[in-house]
Amino acid sequence: MTKSALVLGGGMVGVCTAWHLAQRGFDVTLIERGEPGRETSYGNAGLIQREAVEPYEFPHDLGTLLRVAVGIGNDVAWRARDLPAIAPRLLRYWWHSFPSRYRAIARSYEAMIRHCLDEHQRMIAAAGADNLVARNGWKALYRTGRAFEVGIGEARDRAQRTGILSEILDGAALARAEPVLLHPMAGAIHWRDPWSVSDPGELVGRYAALLEAAGGRILRGDARSLTRHAGGWRVETAQGPVDAAQAVIALGPWSDMVARTLGYRLPLFVKRGYHRHFAWPGGLATPVLDTEMGIAMIPMARGLRVTTGAEFAHRDAPSGTRQMARSEQIARALLPLGAAVEAQPWRGARPCMPDMLPVIGPAWDHPGLWFHFGHAHQGFTLGPTTGRLCAEMMNGETPFIDPAPYSPARFRRA
Ligand SMILES: Cc1cc2nc3c(=O)[nH]c(=O)nc-3n(C[C@H](O)[C@H](O)[C@H](O)COP(=O)(O)OP(=O)(O)OC[C@H]3O[C@@H](n4cnc5c(N)ncnc54)[C@H](O)[C@@H]3O)c2cc1C
Repeated sequence: MTKSALVLGGGMVGVCTAWHLAQRGFDVTLIERGEPGRETSYGNAGLIQREAVEPYEFPHDLGTLLRVAVGIGNDVAWRARDLPAIAPRLLRYWWHSFPSRYRAIARSYEAMIRHCLDEHQRMIAAAGADNLVARNGWKALYRTGRAFEVGIGEARDRAQRTGILSEILDGAALARAEPVLLHPMAGAIHWRDPWSVSDPGELVGRYAALLEAAGGRILRGDARSLTRHAGGWRVETAQGPVDAAQAVIALGPWSDMVARTLGYRLPLFVKRGYHRHFAWPGGLATPVLDTEMGIAMIPMARGLRVTTGAEFAHRDAPSGTRQMARSEQIARALLPLGAAVEAQPWRGARPCMPDMLPVIGPAWDHPGLWFHFGHAHQGFTLGPTTGRLCAEMMNGETPFIDPAPYSPARFRRA
């Protein structure tokens, strides 16, 4: 079989997959409807989250569920009219979050996350993108002593189980470390290992340039035109049809659109999120996350980026206004913010699976077709790692991570 591949989707996941394929001698064409790295992989918090050794579970304690249900708090929001359609997937998400199942899932999650810095570093170095990356971690801020105590307990537990280290800062130590904060806090946990990126879309753009330098092509096209052709795959592009022996669906939150037309019913759902940049004088030593309010504040190239938590809604439903407005209010009370940079907040959608693991592997009914999506809260972190894993499988190599937990076949109906 010729070593050729179509990679559908030019987000962090697709671009990294394509680069790893090109590195292995594949003739690669990346198909993107716009520019690489301009959707979910643009609008995130830009954290390469080495500390994220566990995925976000569905809450089980009654207090949290009630708080979310009545709309108190800002970390989770939902669009009531979309809930009936999303509920079956959320129920499965809840089911997978029971401790006995969740523990096994978290082990498979950690198996990917542990490689994230090394795999990004390889691409950052090759792309000459070091100027976009800060390597001094981020801080989780706690407003109340009770939440801080819980956070400390979890951090110690994480250190014991996975060796991920953090520094505990009490209120006074935090005030010294981040004097720009306008509001006193109970304390903070400084995760030192993660990195942050000042322009996430630009990093994907640099990785895309790396792909082209390695001989890959990037063409405008609509992934929905994918069809079987002469024993391989064909897609229509602005420059005419392109054929290849293999094809990878790496369309992030849009992945189900193409998978569905080929007969696959994969339970992808989204957690939407918003961001907006604000002018500010600077002064944060690291990005900060207000844990109890569910917002992240990250110094970026365009200003201070304020990102929201999760919104449960249809991917394409109109934007809500409340969560971003509240997030802005909270951020303004914490930091000296000026005017908003954009006229409207940005909105994106984290591509999620009910068992919190991405889908990486061969499609069971179509030889040469691969799935690679569903990275939820950490696709920016994981793209280079799972891109390598996917490319190794497509190339017939022994994968560097056991791919079994991420296999699409787990969703195959009997
Ligand atoms: C508010 C927020 C904060 C986040 N913060 C972080 C973080 O700090 N760290 C982290 O690791 N992750 C974070 N994430 C998650 C992360 O952004 C995603 O998991 C990741 O970007 C998904 O990448 P992707 O390549 O799968 O999808 P995308 O980046 O969405 O890429 C999919 C691509 O497919 C293209 N496409 C779609 N349809 C078609 C079509 N028909 N034809 C051709 N092309 C098409 C799109 O244009 C797009 O470029 C955050 C997400 C949000 C929303």
